[in-house]
Amino acid sequence: MSGLPVWIGIDDTDSYYGGCTTWVAAKLALRFKDRLLDFPYLVRLNPEIPWKTRGNGALALKFSSLTDKEVEEVATFVMSVARGDGKTSPSLLISWGDVRQDRFAIKAIRDVITRRELERALEKIAPTSRYFLKKPGKSRGLIGCIAAASHQWSDATYELIGYRDDQSYERPEFREDVLWMDSLTAPITFANFDREAGKPLIYPHGPDPVLFGIRGEDVRVLKAGMMMLRNSCSFWMVFKTNQGTDEHVVAIRSFEQAYPYTTVSIEAHVASNPTTISGGHVVIDLIDKDGNHGQAVFYRQTGNLNRVVRRLVRGDLVRIWGGVRPETQRKVINGQGLTLVAPKNTYEEVPSCPFCHRKMKEVNAGRYICDTCGVQAVGKARLQLKRDILPNRIYQPSASAFKHLMKPAGRRAILTPQEVRSILS
Ligand code: ATP
Repeated sequence: MSGLPVWIGIDDTDSYYGGCTTWVAAKLALRFKDRLLDFPYLVRLNPEIPWKTRGNGALALKFSSLTDKEVEEVATFVMSVARGDGKTSPSLLISWGDVRQDRFAIKAIRDVITRRELERALEKIAPTSRYFLKKPGKSRGLIGCIAAASHQWSDATYELIGYRDDQSYERPEFREDVLWMDSLTAPITFANFDREAGKPLIYPHGPDPVLFGIRGEDVRVLKAGMMMLRNSCSFWMVFKTNQGTDEHVVAIRSFEQAYPYTTVSIEAHVASNPTTISGGHVVIDLIDKDGNHGQAVFYRQTGNLNRVVRRLVRGDLVRIWGGVRPETQRKVINGQGLTLVAPKNTYEEVPSCPFCHRKMKEVNAGRYICDTCGVQAVGKARLQLKRDILPNRIYQPSASAFKHLMKPAGRRAILTPQEVRSILS
């Protein structure tokens, strides 16, 4: 099958105890860099999948060609470095020509892929591909391999990851460098520093080879960001990724369409004032446009978002998004974001007497009288509600609670090459 590009898909080579699939992909990208056709792809899949190890990332590489001997070298390398501890299923896919499982790929980001769906996809790509498993029969990792190699890019960001050789020492965290870097490069870079907590976010804390990761819109700015850090890595790689794109979110109209393990966005009315439960988490009851009931929980860990949700009142129209919990009796969403679409701005109250300011008494349906002054009124008084939440603004979790796929509200697109050409012409 010479002449066709060779796709490599890799997934599940890490575990709670170490390793990182991006490191495996980065090593292969460097080994065959003369034939690499694009950045390595780091595709984040459904964040609600219960069996993910960390960020549910899958990797793909596209090479112009690889010899049979090189294919064997890739397979030997991936299988030898894959951890294989616990419930993982380290997998490698090699495909000659495009994989073209686009619907499978988007479903892997937004929903759950069944064993049957995986088998069907493998049957379809069998004539042009080979796969390798670290543990015979454990093929779940192939879901990520197929999805990453088939992913279609409607929006993308980049992550520059710096790696370390020696994993036995604590990562040196240069807080001040990261804050300066953030102040000079954001919003072209994002998720660098949590200013509320005073903590850098570019350093992971697990036993893996990643020293730091800088995320953003433009590769040149990511490289400049790296130069602002005192950390020295043994090597680095830039990945093209769907991080920060909200690609996992599905807009739905009714709570009936809120399926467990998906992330949905829904417009609904707030049905009762928010309740704070033990632990400081906030629960709101919702009614969608079809009259179905649902609930959203905003955990204390979402910080800013949890505080803002407390300011909602019964009658507000909101759009909320988040992961659907696997509960069967009712639809509960773990809130990850909120917009106030139409605020309730007035409320009704028993009228007060304009002379003595005492509350009036209801004499019969809708008629009120002041016992002292004899003044009469028809209907309740309509008063302005003071609100401390802004309509149409996107409220999101504090930086530390941000997940990979969530789109930062301040993301700013840079000029496309076409725009640059048209401005300069
Ligand atoms: P990383 O640490 O690289 O960010 P992770 O370790 O959290 O990612 P994986 O180790 O890749 O996640 O494990 C997730 C497993 O779940 C993989 O085997 C993957 O193929 C599978 N998987 C991912 N998305 C889906 C999905 N939508 N449906 C079914 N299985 C999935």
